[in-house]
Amino acid sequence: MAEKTQEQEEQGLKCPHCGKKLEDNFYEYQCGCGFRVQHVISGTKIEDSELEKIFAGEVSQVHEFTSAKTGNTYKAKLRLSADKLKVDMVYDWDSGLKCPKCGKKIMESGKGFFCEGGDFKCWREISGTEISREELQKALEGQGDELGFRSHKTGKTFMARLVLNEAKDGLEFKFAERKSEDTGLKCPHCGKKILETDKGFFCEGKDFKCWKSIRGAEISREELQKILEGQGDELGFVGKSSGKPYKGRLVLNEAKDGLDFEFAERKDGLSGSELTDIARDGGSGAGEGGNG
Ligand SMILES: [Zn+2]
Ligand SMILES: [Zn+2]
Ligand SMILES: [Zn+2]
Repeated sequence: MAEKTQEQEEQGLKCPHCGKKLEDNFYEYQCGCGFRVQHVISGTKIEDSELEKIFAGEVSQVHEFTSAKTGNTYKAKLRLSADKLKVDMVYDWDSGLKCPKCGKKIMESGKGFFCEGGDFKCWREISGTEISREELQKALEGQGDELGFRSHKTGKTFMARLVLNEAKDGLEFKFAERKSEDTGLKCPHCGKKILETDKGFFCEGKDFKCWKSIRGAEISREELQKILEGQGDELGFVGKSSGKPYKGRLVLNEAKDGLDFEFAERKDGLSGSELTDIARDGGSGAGEGGNG
């Protein structure tokens, strides 16, 4: 042990990449060669004694980290990267969850959660949101929280819950807006209930629909009721192609599966094609079944 005197004088961690003494800038250890490791990794302080083992090639114990993005906690181990320039997280272990399809273990890895049997998977990141083990567990139990996501395709954000899909081999979105409420109104086509969602009013029997927003006009439940009673108010709309504001009333269409426009006066110079367009955009569905 006497030979260790010189090392003891140079206390501190050595760079695992080049062997020089690491500089400690309070925020992280760093080295001129490019190596760096933060003292606090995703909210968790990593002790020097543990870093020493990691630098020696060991995989650390399991730590709980907190995602700065979502605030979700997740478990991971730490390991020196292959190029020895940073410390990576390792996630490949038993998540403790059972596959909903075959009952085997769900293993947790850097990319997500995968059944040992290969028949279930859930990515760690779904539409910009990190899925923790706890979140997956809730989803599998049908208790998933409502989470915010961002569509990779359109960039739009949306709220949804994650639920097990029908095939039981993964998760799918369940949108809150599908939650529908009975309006107390009866479908003019089949007499069944008209339900209200975030987007509009829909017959239980799926044969009537009316969007809540029609060409810039907001359609309330009360307004729909008036319209169905033939008492619709005069509303302000905006022409889709012209951008011009105009006024009109909404009435039940002939097919009784949606609404049509009715113009008291047609002085606003709307073309025939725009009228057709409006009727279609109005969610009347009149154009969908051909001319009946
Ligand atoms: Zn170095
Ligand atoms: Zn399985
Ligand atoms: Zn109906």
